[in-house]
Amino acid sequence: MPQKKNFALENFLEETILTCQSITKRFGSIVAVNDLDLELRHHEFLAILGPSGCGKSTALRMIAGFESTDSGRITLQNKQVSGPNCLVPPQQRNLGMVFQDLALFPHLSVAQNIMFGLNGSKETKQKRLKQMLELIGLQDSAAKMPHMISGGEQQRVAIARALAPSPELILLDEPFSSLDYQLRVQLRKDIRNMLRKEQVSAILVTHDQEEAFIFADQMIVIHQGRVMQKGTPSEIYHEPANPWVAAFVGEANFLPYAFGKNFLMPETPLINQVQSVEEATSQLMVRPEDISVERSNSSNADGLIRYIDFSGDQQILKIKLFPDTLIQARVSSRQLWNAEDYIQVRFHHCTLFPMKSEDA
Ligand code: ATP
Repeated sequence: MPQKKNFALENFLEETILTCQSITKRFGSIVAVNDLDLELRHHEFLAILGPSGCGKSTALRMIAGFESTDSGRITLQNKQVSGPNCLVPPQQRNLGMVFQDLALFPHLSVAQNIMFGLNGSKETKQKRLKQMLELIGLQDSAAKMPHMISGGEQQRVAIARALAPSPELILLDEPFSSLDYQLRVQLRKDIRNMLRKEQVSAILVTHDQEEAFIFADQMIVIHQGRVMQKGTPSEIYHEPANPWVAAFVGEANFLPYAFGKNFLMPETPLINQVQSVEEATSQLMVRPEDISVERSNSSNADGLIRYIDFSGDQQILKIKLFPDTLIQARVSSRQLWNAEDYIQVRFHHCTLFPMKSEDA
């Protein structure tokens, strides 16, 4: 039987919940955010990724209403909230927020923290509290004070507190940064699932590419206040817009095209094809996992292995391409290699950039 389409729901999901049009923020001579455009749809998760000081928290603070915009405008659910002569305060934006330094109230219990922003009857609040405690898996900790639960549990409570009033959009500013690695990895998956269950839209600000990739449906990469690229995690990683993005979101080898093309497989796709490939003025970027190596003898070798970093699930081969160019390849840790082995090298996927890119 053909499935009935739910047009009302589909239309709702297609609707834009948040639009930032050319928003800019300056602090004295520093342009913290420069002409940022952004659009978020219902139930979509967006990650704003960039290095420290690139302006991502300022962008989030403008969306939250803690900072005004110097120019541009922000529209939330079809209503302008920031713009020329307009700044709707944070508490009137129907947003949930979990910021790095937004600690729980130490003198309130877990339950009181979660219910803090709730209105309505006692029964309504108790019902929502029960839902939130189940969502974060802390049903037995309602009466505990924040110092009696772990850092990871405190972060869950902070998420529950932000979600309890049922906001349409939740803003997360490096919410995992104070936690140790193992906990961070676990918590970011759990929180993503919690947000999906609650059917909110979310924006995560982070400097951690892996965190952004795991969390996001869409990403924006920022450098020095400017958007470098927008796209899905896969587009950002596999089709970086420029060498800066390529190097920021993962390991990347860069070679002059004229030299690197010697190692291309015949069928290798060249992404971001530079309009007419000028051999002298293009550079080729190849990710370590897109390189394969085969043992060879010295007479027909492309290079040799300088040294090997073994890390259990994989190994990084540091390779000297003749005459004297260093690259690295990521290969299975089951392959047996030794330093000084002669090898032939093949690139399977590559990206081409103009050599003298301003973003290099
Ligand atoms: P981090 O990851 O380190 O928090 P970020 O990418 O979030 O960095 P922002 O905090 O947005 O970056 O800062 C962007 C730039 O604006 C920085 O140069 C910062 O020093 C500056 N800045 C931010 N807030 C202010 C302020 N209130 N007054 C003056 N300068 C500021």
